[in-house]
Amino acid sequence: MTTASTSVVERPGRAPKAVSSAEGADVETRPLTTADRCDACGAQAWVRVVLVSGELLFCAHHGRAHAPALAERALFIQDESSRLTEGA
Ligand SMILES: [Zn+2]
Repeated sequence: MTTASTSVVERPGRAPKAVSSAEGADVETRPLTTADRCDACGAQAWVRVVLVSGELLFCAHHGRAHAPALAERALFIQDESSRLTEGA
């Protein structure tokens, strides 16, 4: 056995330096909780999208569905949907 499989779990515990934004928005990661709900269907949110006009929350399904459109206008996208497949 030569394959060393390390199970590294990425934890967004420490927020990276805030992205400097021309809009002056305070853009930085924060952990999504069960209180955060998808704006489209009300399921637990795993994707947070910061726009100039505010922020949107999406579940993994809707986050993926809207990703292409959101990527064009979002200042920042925090995707924690990978946490869904971890653990268990
Ligand atoms: Zn949804």
